[in-house]
Amino acid sequence: MLKGIAASRGIGIGSICVIVEHELKYESKKITDIDAEKARFQAAVDSFKEETAAMAEDIRKRIGPKEAEILEGHLVMISDPTMSGEMSKMIDAGQCAESAVEAVCDMFIGMFSKMDDDMMRQRASDISDIKVSLLKLLLGIKDIDISSVAPGTILVAKDLTPSMTSQINKSNVAGIITEVGGKTSHSAILARALEIPAVLSVPDVTTLVKDKDTAIVDGTEGIIYINPEGDVLSQYIIKREEYIKKQAELKNFLGKPTVTADGENVELFCNIGTPKDAKKAVECDGEGIGLFRSEFLFMEGGHLPTEDEQFTAYKEAAETMNGKPVIIRTLDIGGDKDIPYLGMKKEENPFLGYRAVRYCLGNKDTYITQLRAMVRASAFGKIKIMIPLVTCVDEIRAVKELVSEIKKDFDANGINYDKDIEVGCMIETPSASLIADFLAKEADFFSIGTNDLTQYTMSVDRGNADVAYLYSTFQPSVLRSIKHIIECGRKAGIPVGMCGEAAADPLMIPLLIAFGLTEYSVNPVLVLTARCIISKWSKKEADELAEKIMNLTTESEIVAALKEAAKE
Ligand code: PEP
Ligand code: MG
Repeated sequence: MLKGIAASRGIGIGSICVIVEHELKYESKKITDIDAEKARFQAAVDSFKEETAAMAEDIRKRIGPKEAEILEGHLVMISDPTMSGEMSKMIDAGQCAESAVEAVCDMFIGMFSKMDDDMMRQRASDISDIKVSLLKLLLGIKDIDISSVAPGTILVAKDLTPSMTSQINKSNVAGIITEVGGKTSHSAILARALEIPAVLSVPDVTTLVKDKDTAIVDGTEGIIYINPEGDVLSQYIIKREEYIKKQAELKNFLGKPTVTADGENVELFCNIGTPKDAKKAVECDGEGIGLFRSEFLFMEGGHLPTEDEQFTAYKEAAETMNGKPVIIRTLDIGGDKDIPYLGMKKEENPFLGYRAVRYCLGNKDTYITQLRAMVRASAFGKIKIMIPLVTCVDEIRAVKELVSEIKKDFDANGINYDKDIEVGCMIETPSASLIADFLAKEADFFSIGTNDLTQYTMSVDRGNADVAYLYSTFQPSVLRSIKHIIECGRKAGIPVGMCGEAAADPLMIPLLIAFGLTEYSVNPVLVLTARCIISKWSKKEADELAEKIMNLTTESEIVAALKEAAKE
C-alpha cells in the first residue's frame, strides 16, 4: 500500500499506463540565421495557441467553463508581451528558440514558486506546463495519445498537466496517480470535475510501477495498491460497488428539502471563499451561504480591497444566491492567516493575539470599508453580517454600533440597503460559549465554528500534528459546549447554525439533530451527503443516542458508540 493525497473521491481499479516523460534534450547553439529561428519559434507559439484553444474549447464542452479557464490562462500567459517578448529578445541576441523558451520560463517559474500565495505558486506549474509544451513542439516530440487508452486504465504520471488531463476520456480512465500535486492543483480540480478517483503526491510512483500492473486507487482515503493480494482486491471490488450505489443514492437528494426522518426541516448552507464559489453552492444544491470567508478577497489582490471591489464581490454572491441567505464573515485574519501587505506584527501566540474582530475594531477604517460594502450589497440579496472570534459582549455591541452609523449615513445619502440586515456572531471560543446566553440577547443569530471551538476548548493548536490526537470535536468538553450554545440560542429565540467542519460529519449529525441545530453549513461537495444523513435520523432516535453519548466520559468511547449507531 502506498499513501498520497486524496484528491478526487471514489475507487478506481484497473490496469496501469505509465505516461513516460520524454527527455527534452537539445543542444544549445548560437544562431546565425536569426529570422529563420524567429519564424521557427513563432510557428511553435502559433501551434501551441491553436492546440491549447482547441483543448480549452473541448474542456468547456465536456467538463465546464471553470475548468476550461485553466487552459485559457495558458493562452493569456503566452500572449503576454513580457513573456514572448523576452523570448524574442534572447533569439535576437543569438540564442536558439529552445534556450530562450527554457530560460524565460525558468525565470518566471523561480519567481512564482517563491510566493506565499497558493494561487501564485500554481502559476509556476502553469508556466512549467507551457515550457514543456513549447519545447516538445520545437523538438518535434509527440506524446502518447491519452484519449485512446483502453477502458479501465489507471494513468500514472509524474504530474498530470491540464493539457494531458484535457485528453482524458472519462469512460476509459478508472483512476489517476501522480508524484506531485496537491488538493488544489489543476490536476486535482480536473480529476474532481471528471469524477475520476485520484491520489496525488505518491513519492516515486512512476518508478515503482510498470505498464499493465493492476492498481487500486482509493481517492477517498488517499491510498493506492499495486498488484494487490486477492482478498484486498475482492474487498475493494465490493467497496467500489457500495460507493457507486451511494453516489446514485445521493443524486436522489438533489432538489429536495433537507428534512429529518420525522419530517423536521433544517437549512443546509455552504461554506465559500470567493463569490465565484457561490455558483458551486448553487450547483451542489446548497440552500444558502452559511459562511463566506471574506479574508480570501484580502489575500488574493495583494492590496486592501476597496469598498467598491468588496461591494462587487458581495453583490455577486448575493445575486448568485438569488434571495437565499448569504452570511458574510467579516475579516478573520491573524492566527494562521497572514496578509503580508498589512504588516501585522509577529506575535508569540498568534492564535491568542491581535486577530479577527480584535484587529478589525483596532483598524476601524479598514473595518468600516468592509461593513459599508456589505451593507450596500444587502440591497441585492439576503446578506447577513457575521463577526468572528467574539469573546465578549462589548465586541458585538461595537460592531453593531458601526453598522448603525453606516445605516444613518446611507439614509442621509439615499443609498439603498436592507433595513433588516442581521448581525450575528460566530461562537468559536470557550468565552463566547460560556456567555452564549448574554450574547444571544445581542446577536441576531449564532454560527458555531467548531474548528476553532475545538482548538480553544482543548487548548490544542489546530495545525500541530504532535497534539492532533487531542483535537477532536467529539471530546466531551466540546460536545457539552456545542449543546450549551444551541440551548442558549433556542432559549433566546435566535437561530443557531454551525459552519465548522463538524457540521458535515456523519457521526456528529445525529447529535446536532438532538441538540436542535437548525442550520448546517458545509463544503458544497458535501451538501448531498449531509442531506442524506440528516434524512436518516428522527429526533426521537437522535435524542436517545445523544442521551447515551453525553454520559460517556472519553472521546474514544464516544466515537466508538457513534460509529456503532451510524446509519450509512
Ligand atoms: C471555525 O473556526 O470553525 C470556522 C468555520 O472558521 P475557520 O475555519 O475559518 O477558522
Ligand atoms: Mg474560526
